[in-house]
Amino acid sequence: MSTLLNVHNLTKRFSAEGPAVISQLSFSVQDGEIFALLGPSGCGKTTSLRLMAGFERVDEGEIHLGDRLLSSTQAHVPPEQRGMGLVFQDYALFPHLSVLDNVRFGLRGLSRKEQHERAARALRLVGLQGFEGRAPQALSGGQQQRVAIARSLAPSPRLILLDEPFSNLDALLRQNTRSEIRQVLKQEGITTVLVTHDQEEALSFADRVAVMRHGQIEQVGTPEEVYYQPRTLFVAQFLGRTNLLFSHASGLVADTPLGQLSINREASGPVLLSLRPEHVTLAHPDDNLTHPSARVVAREFKGHDITFRVEMNGAEYLVHTHNRMDFAPGDRVALKPLESAVVLESQQEMQEIPSGITDEAGT
Ligand code: ATP
Repeated sequence: MSTLLNVHNLTKRFSAEGPAVISQLSFSVQDGEIFALLGPSGCGKTTSLRLMAGFERVDEGEIHLGDRLLSSTQAHVPPEQRGMGLVFQDYALFPHLSVLDNVRFGLRGLSRKEQHERAARALRLVGLQGFEGRAPQALSGGQQQRVAIARSLAPSPRLILLDEPFSNLDALLRQNTRSEIRQVLKQEGITTVLVTHDQEEALSFADRVAVMRHGQIEQVGTPEEVYYQPRTLFVAQFLGRTNLLFSHASGLVADTPLGQLSINREASGPVLLSLRPEHVTLAHPDDNLTHPSARVVAREFKGHDITFRVEMNGAEYLVHTHNRMDFAPGDRVALKPLESAVVLESQQEMQEIPSGITDEAGT
């Protein structure tokens, strides 16, 4: 695979004396790849997308699409000449045009016949054949978003930029729409950058995820890499709930508040570890004397799994188990780790954070 989009050292300020909203941002996206920029509100995702689309000028850095320089301090290719498709949260369809004409809108310059064929094909791809003559208002939110996606696909762009495209849809429709759209993008081999604050969306939709914070990328990797091997406390907490263990490491093991645990990489001295709730389970304390005993504080049955809150030596930990785990509040239990704990690069934060579950991701 070759690199299609290259973003290098991008910096953006909205006022000369103000802070950089995007700071030294660098990443590249491979041909055919779905790449997500994931981060909390205000971290600069939309600004990054607008810089790629050409709606904003860069203060520093460069953007290349293939061999073509799109943005630098010297150069700025206008949005309509960038060969990119754009899809926003709010669909942005023309209410006075039919579905077909909305999709044909991006194809002006081609013959009528070709416009028609391409628009009809794009609508077929997103499962909207038969809806060509409808007005956008006569469609559901999910269908309107499919029209917007068909419109961006129809000119065969080299890259599609998606800005929170599913966030106006309700939960079930959102899941279905995004998995169908993902299939279309993959089938057509369309390189995509998705911007979202929704970690589940990024993990399930993208081939690689860049976790952003304060205008910078904190970690890039496959969904599995960033989830299982978060580099920092912020990434660990932003991608899901986790237990933090203030520990002392020696080689590939650490003395932790949960007893001795294996760790994901060699370390020595004080370390902050992350252990996801599903990477630890509960057992009867007398079944397994090697694991320290704890007490169940709360049990939340959620159908497909159970979340337990467990207290040990004054700290609380979260444990996600299968839905038949038969413990109740007040029971003594043993905490049994199932995976290695992950060493976080968070020296400064170690001073401030007690062991146990923290519910908030710091931004
Ligand atoms: P959200 O998920 O809430 O949309 P985001 O991660 O997309 O957030 P941006 O919209 O890129 O964040 O905004 C990043 C920062 O830049 C914010 O502090 C925002 O207030 C600021 N900002 C964005 N656009 C402008 C602008 N045109 N002028 C001044 N400040 C701006």
